[in-house]
Amino acid sequence: MIRSIVKYPDPILQRPTELVTEFNEELRTLVDDMFESMYAAKGIGLAAPQIGVGKRLTVVDLSNQENPDEKIVLINPEVLESEGRQYDEEGCLSLPEIREKVVRAAKVKVKAQNLDGEWFEMDAEELLARAFLHEIDHLDGVLFIYRVSGLKRDLALRKIRKMQRNGEW
Ligand code: ZN
Repeated sequence: MIRSIVKYPDPILQRPTELVTEFNEELRTLVDDMFESMYAAKGIGLAAPQIGVGKRLTVVDLSNQENPDEKIVLINPEVLESEGRQYDEEGCLSLPEIREKVVRAAKVKVKAQNLDGEWFEMDAEELLARAFLHEIDHLDGVLFIYRVSGLKRDLALRKIRKMQRNGEW
């Protein structure tokens, strides 16, 4: 089922999520819904709070549904190691039309649980590392516009307020 994407400044996007403790059918349905909603919105990553669920899980698919092998589910993820630096543009389904360059680690190692509750580790670099860090930020209640300079953030927030006033948000 496609769920609607929660937009800034909804408070659910700005508070830390709760750990997932039940690995059941309900969780599988939630993950299916997250993939479906992400594909419908043409995104490459989606965190549970973005569909209004305050749980620590995220889905990523850089291939945007082209390659089933690239479907990634991270439940209760943590960053174990990060190294290097990359600086590139990011966007977010909860902040449509806002794009800003954000500094991120170039490589990361994350650990997470799968749908059966089993822990695994995964290495990522470049765009995948960026996607993981952006999504894990969501799970901590952090949006990418908090990671740019105050000036750029103010300009982005002003643009959002203008769109809100015009009923375009
Ligand atoms: Zn986002």
